[in-house]
Amino acid sequence: MEPWEWDEATWRGKVDKVRAGRSLKPKTWKNGARCAVALSFDSDHETNELRDGGESIGRLSWGQYGNRRGVPRILETLKAADVPATFFVPAVAALLHPDEQKRVIAEGHEIGLHGWIHEVNTKVPPDKERELHLRAADTLEKITGVRAVGMRTPSWDFSDVTLEIERELGLLYDSSLMADDDPYELVENGVPTGMVELPVEWIRDDAVYFNMNRFTAHRPYTPPPAVLDIFKREFDRAYQEGGLFLLTMHPHVSGYRSRIFILEELIQHIKQHDDVWFGTHADIARFAKENADG
Ligand SMILES: [Zn+2]
Repeated sequence: MEPWEWDEATWRGKVDKVRAGRSLKPKTWKNGARCAVALSFDSDHETNELRDGGESIGRLSWGQYGNRRGVPRILETLKAADVPATFFVPAVAALLHPDEQKRVIAEGHEIGLHGWIHEVNTKVPPDKERELHLRAADTLEKITGVRAVGMRTPSWDFSDVTLEIERELGLLYDSSLMADDDPYELVENGVPTGMVELPVEWIRDDAVYFNMNRFTAHRPYTPPPAVLDIFKREFDRAYQEGGLFLLTMHPHVSGYRSRIFILEELIQHIKQHDDVWFGTHADIARFAKENADG
């Protein structure tokens, strides 16, 4: 049946499958802060190529750059600024680079779930998707010694059963959907779930501006200073509104000599405001859940 032939129950059912419920934006953030800042880094590394078949040694080396140069440069930046962040890591990337994950945890950051091999959830059969997320959670825990409490789905792709699996895992939050600027409660088929959504946006994702593909016309189209300007404006407005500023970056995209200044200068800019709280995604989700305004 074509979409224009659906009855109301059909199109309403699709929309209601996973929906934004009540806002979980608190009146003020931790210690009375006016704005919360959640920095995240998706350490996809080689899995971006592996999930597409792993044919290209060149693209696999690009992924390895994320581990060799990207993550260390990012960790040094975070350490110099003394701010915590969250790293979302596919289990296969964690197995390829266990020492990186141990360092991330040792330096006070959070590691969250990001699929098994960066598979696209809607392309995996439901039973298999469940098995992969459960295996990924156990794998990350084995490597880091910490049980993950949040998930960012690979490519922010969400299947009909993704939320159900996240709930089965007992997760505190998801960070893959985009119905708001500020945290909200996820509602599944009309029923509030108690799970926190920390919303993402392509606007606040470095990959959108910088990705490139040698064999298509896909090239970076925004100069790095312009990307910094967009991120600053997103923060400035979040600060003005007393909301959440959540940013997604990738070590194999922003960890370069000519781009790391974006993270450095953005943090400097944010730190010029003294009533800002930098938290891990887990810290911010927990605070929002416990302190939602109404
Ligand atoms: Zn990813």
